[in-house]
Amino acid sequence: MQVYRGKSVFGGIAVGTISVYSREEQQVKRVKTEDTAAELARYANANETAIAQLAALYEKAVKEVGESGAAIFEIHQMMLEDEDYKESVENMIRTQQVNAEYAVAVTGDNFAQMFASMDDDYMKARAADVKDISERLISVLNGRGAQAVNTKEPVIIVADDLAPSETVQMDKDMVLSFVTVHGSANSHTAILARTMEIPALIGTDIPLDESVDGKFAVVDGMNGCIYVEPDEQTLKELKDKQKEEREKKELLLSLKGKENVTLDGRQIMLYANIGNVKDLATVLQNDAGGIGLFRSEFLYLEKEEYPTEEEQFAVYKTVAETMAGKRVIIRTLDIGADKQCGYFKLEREENPALGLRAIRICLARPEVFKTQLRALFRASAYGNLAIMYPMIANLWEITRIKEIAQEVKAELASQGIAYGNPAQGIMIETPAAVMISEELAKEVDFFSIGTNDLTQYTLAVDRQNPKLEEFYDAHHPAVLRMIRMVVDNAHKAGIWAGICGELGGDITLTQSFLEMGVDELSVSPGRILPIRKIIRETDCRKESEKSN
Ligand code: PEP
Ligand code: MG
Repeated sequence: MQVYRGKSVFGGIAVGTISVYSREEQQVKRVKTEDTAAELARYANANETAIAQLAALYEKAVKEVGESGAAIFEIHQMMLEDEDYKESVENMIRTQQVNAEYAVAVTGDNFAQMFASMDDDYMKARAADVKDISERLISVLNGRGAQAVNTKEPVIIVADDLAPSETVQMDKDMVLSFVTVHGSANSHTAILARTMEIPALIGTDIPLDESVDGKFAVVDGMNGCIYVEPDEQTLKELKDKQKEEREKKELLLSLKGKENVTLDGRQIMLYANIGNVKDLATVLQNDAGGIGLFRSEFLYLEKEEYPTEEEQFAVYKTVAETMAGKRVIIRTLDIGADKQCGYFKLEREENPALGLRAIRICLARPEVFKTQLRALFRASAYGNLAIMYPMIANLWEITRIKEIAQEVKAELASQGIAYGNPAQGIMIETPAAVMISEELAKEVDFFSIGTNDLTQYTLAVDRQNPKLEEFYDAHHPAVLRMIRMVVDNAHKAGIWAGICGELGGDITLTQSFLEMGVDELSVSPGRILPIRKIIRETDCRKESEKSN
């Protein structure tokens, strides 16, 4: 296996055979001529023909890659009409009494050199264009047709550089990737590759000879490498990566902007889980309808001391504003158990998962809780924000939370500080909460089932213990029945119920969840589109209803 590196101008993976493209060098001889008028006329005719060829290429390119991709051929036409270029050619024919081919070749080289020496990257890239138009003129003068890359099967084109006229004449279905030794990110090859969405490398240290020509290879446009005759392991890895990419791309293309609606017309809220403001980019990229779980404890975990109200407010406000009216559910502090935070100075516990954690800490330390609530209520004035409380096991916890929330709002009001009126829901992640979900549902605005902890507490299996993996079965009928029960009780009280634990992103269960009546799924951003696909293919009606 040989690995060559370059600069990637477009991502993706291409697998296939290499075809080294070498331009047929047009030998141009200097020929002395007495009849300069005839040479000038030959040049004028050739110029006209070349312009007509370019007009035809423009039409072809518009159809294949759109107007912006085709624009280069208009530029080439203008270059052929450029007075400086024309004058240089004509002057050389006249004063040096040389043939038109020679005058064009020299002018082309001179102009290309001039462009190449410019500081501006865009102008530098135009050197290839001047060479291209000059080659075209010489071909016409020689009576030869334009050169093209001809292949019968899709190939990876490896070349020194590719002129726009060379790439446009290629049958695009036959090109898997472009790999060039020269070229710039502004070159037409790069622009074309981006438009065609195929991997392309420039500035690659690959030889242009029989050591690679005709060989099997893989181009990785993500890491900028071309692997010639890759070994089995590398090939497998790259093919897996390619499959993943392809699936992702197909999903992205077809499902972005589409509704999360089942075949029987039920709208599902499909949200994303995040732990950080930085995750927002992937949330938007994957077209999430909102944020179903913002694990706010990460704000606390990444600091050496308690984050202030202002620090928290800034973060929550940013998330609410960025999501622009879409629902953002922020879960209050869920410290303890697996998420330890030194400055909280929590006592060592025998059974931390069953100890002082999450809402229990907040209720035990109302000053910490109040700081977070103040930031949340204030930020809720800037978007569609909701607050969610974790690890609920008792009704009285809700009563206490409401009292504290009321105090916070009263304080803000008395201080003249603006705040919103966010929806307030709870996580269902203890079996106790499941069993009293009928009563809890009457007290809150929504339920979100935390299947990670619910599985742990239902099956009495430590979710942190790798030795117990076999026993940690989130598909256990006990867990699934609990989910159904929670959803039923939520609906009875007229509130919605979702899942924000990892099980929500388990695509083998999406249909079952929909059939159970789950209203919302909050999953890692990368899962949004695969789940959207299933939602749109699911019909929750009974068989007998479907035929009607
Ligand atoms: C859960 O328990 O399912 C959950 C979403 O919360 P965390 O994983 O943060 O405990
Ligand atoms: Mg949890």
